[in-house]
Amino acid sequence: MNASDILILNVDDNDGARYAKTRILQVAGFKVIEAENGADALSMVLDRLPDLVLLDVKLPDINGIEVCRRIKETPATSMVMVLQTSAALTGRADKIRGLEGGADNYLAAPIEADELIANVNALLRLRKTQVDLKESEERFRQMAESIKDVFWIFSVPDQTMLYVSPAYEAMWQRSSAVLCESPDDWLDVIHPDDRERVRSSFQAKFQNQHYHEDFRIVRSDGSVRWMRDRAFPVKNANHEVYRMARITSDITDAKSAEKALQDADIHKDQFLATLAHELRNPLGPIRNAVELMRHADPVASEMHAQAGEVISRQVDHMARLVDDLLDIARISKGKIRLEKNPVELNTFIQSAIETTLPFINIRNHALNVSLLDEKTWMAGDSVRLAQIIANLLNNAAKYTPRSGEISLSVELLPANRAKIIVRDNGIGIPFDQLHTIFDLFSQGDAAPDRAQDGLGIGLSLVKKLVELHHGVIHAESPGQGGGSAFHVDFPILQMESPVAPDDAAAGPGATAAGTALTVLVVDDNIDSAHTTSMLLNAYGYKTYMAHDAISTMAIARQHAPDVILLDIGLPVTNGYDVARMLRKQPQFQKIKLIAVTGYGAERDRQKAIDAGFDHHLVKPANIAKLLEFLSAPG
Ligand code: ADP
Repeated sequence: MNASDILILNVDDNDGARYAKTRILQVAGFKVIEAENGADALSMVLDRLPDLVLLDVKLPDINGIEVCRRIKETPATSMVMVLQTSAALTGRADKIRGLEGGADNYLAAPIEADELIANVNALLRLRKTQVDLKESEERFRQMAESIKDVFWIFSVPDQTMLYVSPAYEAMWQRSSAVLCESPDDWLDVIHPDDRERVRSSFQAKFQNQHYHEDFRIVRSDGSVRWMRDRAFPVKNANHEVYRMARITSDITDAKSAEKALQDADIHKDQFLATLAHELRNPLGPIRNAVELMRHADPVASEMHAQAGEVISRQVDHMARLVDDLLDIARISKGKIRLEKNPVELNTFIQSAIETTLPFINIRNHALNVSLLDEKTWMAGDSVRLAQIIANLLNNAAKYTPRSGEISLSVELLPANRAKIIVRDNGIGIPFDQLHTIFDLFSQGDAAPDRAQDGLGIGLSLVKKLVELHHGVIHAESPGQGGGSAFHVDFPILQMESPVAPDDAAAGPGATAAGTALTVLVVDDNIDSAHTTSMLLNAYGYKTYMAHDAISTMAIARQHAPDVILLDIGLPVTNGYDVARMLRKQPQFQKIKLIAVTGYGAERDRQKAIDAGFDHHLVKPANIAKLLEFLSAPG
């Protein structure tokens, strides 16, 4: 604080005394202005806003104590310091009166120069502290009042609210005066579903010194707003928590955006699942029809047989795409369940090779396989692991021009890991796509001798399946035309022999011996019911058909079939309910019930078993599996 920046008003009607005081102040470096009476003093205080008034009590017009009172009660001048002075022999009573009139200090004559300056400096220091405090309060007030969030301050020792910012009234549409009277008033507008949770969490805040809740408030106009409410401990100079600061922000817009994103994601997943499901439905009848044609005419012309194979292959291809789509939808919803067992690496790799070899051969590629000599086990789902490798081999064959070279090698890595590498000398992957090819629906160029096919979901699914096995996958390629390599790195088990090895290569034993068995085929898709029925006839089964729940019950009662092959998605009453109805009746308790559904998740299988089914088949029903179930002991 520089003395020359300080302005002091010296008020005294005695010329000599006033002059003496002005000199002392000027010598100390202060700027001084003078007034001889109370009225002039008051108008100069208003005009010039001095930092301090040196005010003699005895003035010709207005008494000095009254002048002081008016300075202090006027808001614009209340911060001006007043040092009251009086002539000698003033009594104690005058001093008390002066101080009670609002003076910041009182000096009685004779006033020594050093005493006066020391008093002036003390008051100026006090004034600076007051001004700083006021400014800080002002800054806080401006911030608290201009921000839309609500600020609250609570005292920890007596657990009371000390402050709430004006935004409370706008946000809550409630009065803060009422809140001060009844501190729980803010809870009354909280959505009933959130209220108790917030109340108890809020009550515990002084103990926990932590509070963070998102909740809804329902305002008087019925509008619902989402709030994010947080409280933080505030420590004093001794590092003790003595207050809690709380901030409540309106997050309705962010919540809506989040919800819109989630909804879009759910819609996308639902759409994918429905699309896959709908696409899968026609595949069953097509597959049955081809089987039927083959069975009906074992010595068909070569052209006929080839056409049948083309249809079979294309149906298999479609079924694979549709399965991938369904898998992606399930993984996104976290609904996929892996049947994890100890799995031998070479076994599932062989199975993947068997699946893809026909396509590799059609494209005339050379396949070089180098497996591990030792049996190596990992924890995993053999079908899914084979699916991963088959997908990579299939891509290698697809993205390599005819007569290319594909290799598959396995190597052991330190720290109980093994790496499977699928390499090709095909079209390669541009550097900037090496990461994005694992994104859903991401597609690069087709091989020059192939039209673009696929949906761009294979690698995304592969990556997710690898991750579900705690593995990592990455692609390497020197760029266009340089071929590609996919490295899949899995943790392996350290064990001498498996507890229960999965044998992915072993298919179901198809023994179609049921000659006299009767099967009731229930499907609302008439084509599907017909082809299944014809196929079963061809294998020697006697069949009946029904297309809804009522006729199913009627035919079952009339013909007492040995097996009912029941589609789940029936109109009005679904297959689960039909199964329950059948099982309730004593004559159907031993009947073999096989569910045929478009949904193949473990949860769906369990649902079928719970409803009373013996077996669960996923559409398009695998014929061998169906025959196996039919001939299995009931
Ligand atoms: P899709 O094959 O249906 O397009 P994928 O998810 O299997 O979908 O593959 C995504 C993209 O990655 C492909 O479109 C292709 O551009 C690229 N890609 C995958 N495998 C290879 C490979 N072996 N060589 C070159 N590009 C590949």
